[in-house]
Amino acid sequence: MDTPTNPKGRGTPAGPRPGARPQHALDLAGVTRRYSQGAAALEILRGVDLAISHGQSVALVAPSGSGKSTLLHIAGLLEHSDAGEVFIDGTPTARLPDAERTRIRRLHVGFIYQFHHLLPEFSALENVAMPQMIRGLSRPMAEKRARELLSYLGLAARLTHRPSELSGGEQQRVAIARALANAPRLLLADEPTGNLDPKTSDHVFGALTELVRATGVAALIATHNLELASRMDRRVTLREGKVVELA
Ligand code: ADP
Repeated sequence: MDTPTNPKGRGTPAGPRPGARPQHALDLAGVTRRYSQGAAALEILRGVDLAISHGQSVALVAPSGSGKSTLLHIAGLLEHSDAGEVFIDGTPTARLPDAERTRIRRLHVGFIYQFHHLLPEFSALENVAMPQMIRGLSRPMAEKRARELLSYLGLAARLTHRPSELSGGEQQRVAIARALANAPRLLLADEPTGNLDPKTSDHVFGALTELVRATGVAALIATHNLELASRMDRRVTLREGKVVELA
């Protein structure tokens, strides 16, 4: 397997801004979220505090329905919290206009979902190059990094395959490469191997953790699998709407 020549692929980070807490890639402070269910309110997150350092990998292991996806959506600025603050790379985001939240998300956050959501009519290479080209990179530069990431993930011989011509594990590895294509500071993954058989899941998770280490991205990965979670730097769970550290 080739190693990406510059897996971090980053420019100089922006300087600290007013009100910034620069030390963490992600810092959730007192985050609450409730859904109204008819007349009743369902309090899913009740003051979540969670700080993840640059380069740190954290597994979020909690039962279905406990609020993992809600937490990841709020951390990735896809959803608003009702109260509390979400610092991305030190920048407070809760009160920013939507356009600015979107800009920060595109610049700093990569997502991997349980289902790959690759574009079916494009090749593996194009799927990974596209987010970079949307950000303004030239096609040759974008394809160069896409090739490096896909090769690192063992897909050098699958670059021109479309998603339908790839196995489930290969599709998910392309989705991992796509999530890291723009060299985000923060990687959020929601059951990234939940749709795969145990052996494939093991391989894909191994590739994911290896690439997380190689790129130095901070990662928050929801998984049901305690064995997979044990490979991360930290394990946390959700208990009564709060994040609690596990051993
Ligand atoms: P998990 O990812 O741990 O399975 P979720 O964050 O998806 O949990 O959901 C947590 C709880 O919040 C669930 O009980 C779910 O039914 C509820 N929920 C999630 N989204 C909504 C919504 N948009 N409206 C109402 N309830 C919701």
